[in-house]
Amino acid sequence: MAERVIPLVDERATMRTPSVPALLRAPTGELRDRLGRPLRDLRISVTDRCNFRCSYCMPKEVFDKDYRYLPHSALLSFEEITRTARLFVAHGVRKIRLTGGEPLLRKNVEELVAQLAALRTPEGLPLDLTLTTNGSLLARKARALRQAGLNRVTVSLDGLDDAVFRRMNDVDFPVSDVLAGIEAAQAAGLSRLKVNMVVKRGTNEDQILPMARFFRGTGVTLRFIEYMDVGATNGWRMDEVLPSDELVARLRAELPLVPLAPSAPGETAVRWGYANAQGRHDASLGEIGLISSVTHAFCGDCNRARLSTEGRLYLCLFASEGWDLRSLLRSSASDAEVAAALAPIWQQRSDRYSELRASLPASDGAQRRRIEMSYIGG
Ligand code: SAM
Ligand code: SF4
Ligand code: SF4
Repeated sequence: MAERVIPLVDERATMRTPSVPALLRAPTGELRDRLGRPLRDLRISVTDRCNFRCSYCMPKEVFDKDYRYLPHSALLSFEEITRTARLFVAHGVRKIRLTGGEPLLRKNVEELVAQLAALRTPEGLPLDLTLTTNGSLLARKARALRQAGLNRVTVSLDGLDDAVFRRMNDVDFPVSDVLAGIEAAQAAGLSRLKVNMVVKRGTNEDQILPMARFFRGTGVTLRFIEYMDVGATNGWRMDEVLPSDELVARLRAELPLVPLAPSAPGETAVRWGYANAQGRHDASLGEIGLISSVTHAFCGDCNRARLSTEGRLYLCLFASEGWDLRSLLRSSASDAEVAAALAPIWQQRSDRYSELRASLPASDGAQRRRIEMSYIGG
């Protein structure tokens, strides 16, 4: 494994500077990009640090003791994040996901949750506020997060076999502690829990069925994620991707499944429901999801923007360039000015990397210039 890890070229410095237009237009609540896609979902990375070293995300060989994480002064403060989120909501964002790195490592993250939970849409409604975590600190934090106003949580777990999972997180972290975190989240009232499992062929594919059986009928939606070529350090190879179609076929051979309609526009997961003896979806057994960004690109209705830990705005998970919002936020710009500067950034967006992946020449340098998942969040 180690010999395939590609050294990290630090491209966090690559950025563009937003400009405030001469004519300040107030947000209308609806921004469309060049491909007609609205802005609905904001993913906010609150730390670039993590206590795991998943080989597909933060391989130990690169993220070692010498790796330079962002200094605290570089991070957006909770007030800066909330201000940015409020302006994004005015432009149409309805869903906010906190991520990282490991978001529960950010000190007092529940205070940020409380600030974001107080935001309202122009129609006066609360946001869909959620968080993605590796679950390691969830047993300790679930209650405080719920009390602060978090609605939902997604927990990443790549297998139930302790040896497989310990190898994948590469810090010898046991499955049982993540399961305790999931239970604590359910007990705290965090509803519609999701579990994300990144599937790597030859590494944890034998965990697919045990995971499906374990979460079937528990109220937890298990989502299988194709191993992606995100970042530049994980030494990604196509032959380690297990295509979702193959995964579904394997599951259907053992567990009856029926296709379900997408729950919302821009939904990343294709849904399958567990079927009853009559071949109809049995809601009490629940459903699974498949996130197939390698074999079935879903850029056509991608409505997601991403804010990095240090306040760079990225319009695609595979972008190599971000917009420096932090300088704007730390200037004397008013809310009206910052909001007006955000609008053309989204309106000029035309990213659709996953759709283009197959046709991109290997030599285009993208492999080297991409930002890391741990920096931008999932
Ligand atoms: N640390 C948190 C966690 O693991 O849930 C949040 C951040 S993590 C970057 C967000 C999600 O991205 C996780 O579900 C993780 O499994 C997924 N992820 C990271 N690298 C990936 C890759 N190369 N391919 C597919 N998913 C990946
Ligand atoms: Fe950490 Fe999440 Fe990346 Fe794993 S996937 S190394 S838990 S940020
Ligand atoms: Fe969205 Fe970029 Fe992923 Fe396509 S590749 S779905 S545009 S984040």
